[in-house]
Amino acid sequence: MSSGKQASSEANPFRALPSVDEGRRLLDGLLDGGPAGPGEAAARMAAIPAAVRTELVQQELDAFRRRIGKDGLGADDVEAEVSGGGFGAALLERARVEAGRGVRSAVNATGVVLHTNLGRAPVHPEAAERMRAAAEGYCVLEMDRYSARRNERDARLGVLLSRLTGAEAGIAVNNCAGAAFLMMQTFAGGREAIVSRGELVEIGGSFRVPDVMARAGVDMVEVGTTNRTRAVDYERAIGPDTGLLMKVHTSNYRVVGFTEEADPAELACLGKEHGVTSGWDLGSGRIEVEGTRPLEEVGDETVVRDAVATGIDVVAFSGDKLLGGPQAGLIVGRQESIRALRGNPIYRALRLDKVALAGLEATLELLLAGRGSEIPSRRLMHRPEPELAESAARIAAAIDALPGFSAEAVPEKSQPGSGSAPTIFLPTTAVRVSGQGHSAESLATRLRAGEPPVFVRIHEDAVLLDPRALLPGDEARLLAAFEAIA
Ligand SMILES: *Cc1c(COP(=O)(O)O)cnc(C)c1O
Repeated sequence: MSSGKQASSEANPFRALPSVDEGRRLLDGLLDGGPAGPGEAAARMAAIPAAVRTELVQQELDAFRRRIGKDGLGADDVEAEVSGGGFGAALLERARVEAGRGVRSAVNATGVVLHTNLGRAPVHPEAAERMRAAAEGYCVLEMDRYSARRNERDARLGVLLSRLTGAEAGIAVNNCAGAAFLMMQTFAGGREAIVSRGELVEIGGSFRVPDVMARAGVDMVEVGTTNRTRAVDYERAIGPDTGLLMKVHTSNYRVVGFTEEADPAELACLGKEHGVTSGWDLGSGRIEVEGTRPLEEVGDETVVRDAVATGIDVVAFSGDKLLGGPQAGLIVGRQESIRALRGNPIYRALRLDKVALAGLEATLELLLAGRGSEIPSRRLMHRPEPELAESAARIAAAIDALPGFSAEAVPEKSQPGSGSAPTIFLPTTAVRVSGQGHSAESLATRLRAGEPPVFVRIHEDAVLLDPRALLPGDEARLLAAFEAIA
């Protein structure tokens, strides 16, 4: 017997590996009615197509081969891992990760209403329905149905934007970064744009105003200082090549103390005097309209209508930040300026698709109908403190009753998110959870890996659940996630 073992450990460990076919049979057995069990996650795993299953087996075999080389595994170690179920468990784990990838519904327990990594604004159900209908079938997109003439896909949107903001016209592109780029390129491509040193913003990722200007072929002329810039600084810099006087909202930071920024109304006047376009990248796009409760929670964030009223030629903002619609970049302003944007061939590369357009129209119509308070992101920002406290108390009691967990409700603050209103903290009640045998990090990791994925905050080595951004049904999904772990 000992000689058999001897022979096995001297045998080539690579030959002890299962073949791809054997691996496939093992994985198929595990996925089709195997230990993954019932539920959504198992159904998704069972739906992994044959070719991908083979790819997963090959990947695991490759990883196994590398381990043999690196850790000096013998043939008997390999056999033990295969017969002991380690290999099958590794295959199942690869299948679980594969089935869990992609854009899918998640529970946002971070309290951040406009969480860029979690898809920003959840749209109103009526907007979602219009998006579904547009996606699923044909729709009236670039055609006036009454005259059968071709028109602009965002013609209706432009009308809605005018009604809401007081601007003469509007245009929609893929996102606000695209809107800012289009603005810079149209008015200052091959020429100069003047911008304040205090507003050379980085939005996140790689969107930095100076870099975008450079890529738009714009010669950027910085004026003023980090903390103080006046309209007269812009005026002094105006020359024969100036195409744009630009203001950029410092969405995700504030300069406080001895500060001054150029008055947009003065920039608008300067522009008119010198025949230069004035533009304002507002970013978050706060819309206020009669019949809808104002978003006072976000403090001094500029209202789009007020920005337009300064006389500035064009104002750009996002569709999926404070506006609460699908991802988009919107530009409103003077007819002639909007026409120039539309005439730029780059507009074609940035324009919005039918699905987002349908959702945006629906969102703007809700605002015009006096139903803006129903828009989910607004409703979440307005959530009354007692309601949040009740939700937190319910969640804390349910989690505290689970074996291995303790939970308590604690006063906390939520941030609006998406780089809007960086100095604003909304009072909330959160649930602080600690799990025996779980660090906060490991608990957060397990919650993210569960079905549905749950996203939380971590603070002072505890998991914090903020109920603010929980949507209908999410409280139950959140508790089910904890039950699954317990
Ligand atoms: C958020 C923001 C952008 C980018 O908007 P996206 O919709 O994310 O592309 C651009 N400019 C400002 C000032 C912003 O706040």
